[in-house]
Amino acid sequence: MRALVFKGGRELELMQFPDPEPGPGEVVLEIKASGMCGSDLKVYRAEKGASAALGLGGTKGPVIAGHEPCGVVAAVGPGVDPSLAKPGARVMVHHYKGCGVCEHCRVGWTQLCQEGIVVYGVTGHGAHAPYMKVPASTLVPLPDALSFETGAAISCGTGTAYGALRRMNLSGRDTIAVIGQGPVGLSATQLAAAMGARVIALDPSPERLVRARDFGAEAALDPRAYDPVGAIKDLTQGRGADLTLDTSGTPAGRLAAVRSARVWGTVCFVGEGDSVTLDVSPDLLRKQLTIVASWTFSVTGQAECARFVAERGIDVDRLFTHRWKLEQAEEAYRVFDAQTAGKGLFLM
Ligand SMILES: [Zn+2]
Ligand SMILES: [Zn+2]
Repeated sequence: MRALVFKGGRELELMQFPDPEPGPGEVVLEIKASGMCGSDLKVYRAEKGASAALGLGGTKGPVIAGHEPCGVVAAVGPGVDPSLAKPGARVMVHHYKGCGVCEHCRVGWTQLCQEGIVVYGVTGHGAHAPYMKVPASTLVPLPDALSFETGAAISCGTGTAYGALRRMNLSGRDTIAVIGQGPVGLSATQLAAAMGARVIALDPSPERLVRARDFGAEAALDPRAYDPVGAIKDLTQGRGADLTLDTSGTPAGRLAAVRSARVWGTVCFVGEGDSVTLDVSPDLLRKQLTIVASWTFSVTGQAECARFVAERGIDVDRLFTHRWKLEQAEEAYRVFDAQTAGKGLFLM
């Protein structure tokens, strides 16, 4: 089969790989939809030859990209319990593999395994391919009401947004400021609005601000045109937002998230990479601030997100502005790299 590999330096290659065969405990999926996630851009943009795996470990040889897999079970290996995987079942993948027995793996937080992990699409073969082999334990059923496209989004970007909102215990009483309206930020806007919260969205892209309003934000601001902290305080009677979420992964975005949260507020960081410098006493201590770090979601968290989206009839497919064939990958990532459009995905 032909599958997509990031070569670094914004280069891609469709390379030939053997069709995967399931070993014991494994399944092979026929991929139907494979999403493009913001964290892919870190690998796409990385210098050639440099490891860009975001602290996730190195790789041997070329790795197939794509960590938002959604498809149907095509082949089941020996020893797989039929309740986990039946041929033809519609599934998503929790895109990590751990040791399987430690305290983190046992509760479905495989990515926190300290014995070494595989991140599919980053350090292990991912879903920008016609077929993908994974342990049956990574499968998450896709509810009938949800499309393969929605399943792909939930497999990282939208699931990450949902996980962050849950970590912050967002309620309908809250005003939340969402910094960055890329795929994760826009999902957070859509889900937080569906949970009844008041959403203030920030992004430098005018296109993304229009979409943020369309997805339920009450206010959508360009942080380059307005002082984001002042603007958020103006919208909250001078108090600051109850909750703030940084999806930008930039030092400025994180600082704005910290400084625009109210006294006793909660800040959540989900954007990957880079750093932030905080003035601890005024920024944190004087406000009794809580900072939450949130890395994606557990296996059951992914299933919960899918259930929420299905039961509330949330139109996650609307996140996607670009649908591509694998052969169009160069153009697909060039468009995504500009960070002004919505989310893209590959349909097989
Ligand atoms: Zn483990
Ligand atoms: Zn991702």
